[in-house]
Amino acid sequence: MCYVQLLHSSRCFDALTRRIFRVSEENRTPLPGSSVAGPATDPQLDAWRDLPIAQQPTWREHPDYSASISELGSRPPLVFAGEVDILRERLAAAAQGKAFLLQGGDCAETFDGATADKISSRVKTILQMAVVLTYGASMPVIKMGRMAGQFAKPRSSNDETRDGVTLPAFRGDIVNGYDFTPESRAHDPKRLVQAYNTSSATLNLIRAFTQGGFADLRSVHSWNAGFMANPAHSAYEQLAGEIDSAIRFMDACGADFEALKRTEFFASHEALLLDYERALTRTDSRTGQPYDTSGHFLWIGERTRQLDHAHVDFLSRVRNPIGVKLGPNTKPEDALELIEKLDPNREPGRLTFITRMGAQNIREKLPNLVEKVTASGAQVLWVTDPMHGNTVTSENGYKTRKFDDVMDEVRGFFEVHDSLGTFPGGLHVEMTGDDVAECLGGADPIRQEQFDDLYESVCDPRLNHKQSLEMAFLVSGALQSRGRR
Ligand code: PEP
Ligand code: MN
Repeated sequence: MCYVQLLHSSRCFDALTRRIFRVSEENRTPLPGSSVAGPATDPQLDAWRDLPIAQQPTWREHPDYSASISELGSRPPLVFAGEVDILRERLAAAAQGKAFLLQGGDCAETFDGATADKISSRVKTILQMAVVLTYGASMPVIKMGRMAGQFAKPRSSNDETRDGVTLPAFRGDIVNGYDFTPESRAHDPKRLVQAYNTSSATLNLIRAFTQGGFADLRSVHSWNAGFMANPAHSAYEQLAGEIDSAIRFMDACGADFEALKRTEFFASHEALLLDYERALTRTDSRTGQPYDTSGHFLWIGERTRQLDHAHVDFLSRVRNPIGVKLGPNTKPEDALELIEKLDPNREPGRLTFITRMGAQNIREKLPNLVEKVTASGAQVLWVTDPMHGNTVTSENGYKTRKFDDVMDEVRGFFEVHDSLGTFPGGLHVEMTGDDVAECLGGADPIRQEQFDDLYESVCDPRLNHKQSLEMAFLVSGALQSRGRR
């Protein structure tokens, strides 16, 4: 693959990193139920350093590199091992058709975008979608943000050229800046610490919102009234009315709404920068096992899932539930080998396959993959990412996706699983709670003329608030009719 940038680590660098990690190993006191201070020390966690690795920044010789890694290593974990274990159980239920995963957020979070308003509207939209999906699926919906760590982006080219000037490509705020200047595009390891700090602030707000009363089922549902007030959404009136009645019925029966004021919410991101992931990997004080405490759920992207490369090796050694993106060229043997490597013990909830085939391909390509995996006896969680196989360029030059293509892939995903008797276990979407114009279409349609004013994404186009809710209503309707069959 021409875009794969292979970097092999030098012995000198490895010795340095190991020394940094040993320093922060001193004076460790196990914290009950959490993790031992400092990065985990099992040498196997560094086996990836001797393997080919794609999509990494070129910053190992940078004067701030060692201090940044060392600082990350001394910071507290962002998530706790116990929470990660709970998520694994929830995902195991989804793999058995007893729960449904909703995973959503920006393609690339930005440091500037980590404001209270933007974070709350994204969490709010995910909660709104989840209520609608819970009703349609009649099963628990696992709520997960592509949030609090989604700062690194794989790129198809190392460079970008504008008007004859070539600079390093933007790789996400954790690596370099978006502005097209040599200073901004230089890879800066101090950004690793800034990403940690921004993730920590984001997660703090998410925890406050979802535990402090904001997630009350009744208010979350009442927010949907704004969406329903738009005549463009009249097709969803019946479903919205049914949810209303269901909540009133629960209220009348004396349901414990105090308990429904809080909800679980998990954080996830693509584990792309192994410098970051390794430094935040800690030993769980209860079990002695390594957990990557940068997020609850981590996934391996389509560009870095090579079996013998660094990403698969590193993630095979941490206890978090792991996702792998699978594109249209995935062979069943690839999937089976990934299962063997990432989930050798066939542990329920450990492995999620996030398929991103494209609406054109899904009905043709997915069946063989699902059939072979199922025949092998493995039980993975199948999730659809209907975004990444449906990216096009608009006539006026923006990277976009058509809402209809996105929905067509979702429908194809359900059709394939229905025909095979397997479980369509979740939805992975790039979305925001704001009124941006990045994806075309929807019932209250976004047109390309709106892009000049309302396109904000620094990477891939996201569904806006209304398009996200519309998707939830459509998927909910599909889940409801499956349940009735
Ligand atoms: C992404 O999720 O933003 C992404 C780059 O996806 P993929 O690895 O599927 O291309
Ligand atoms: Mn993306």
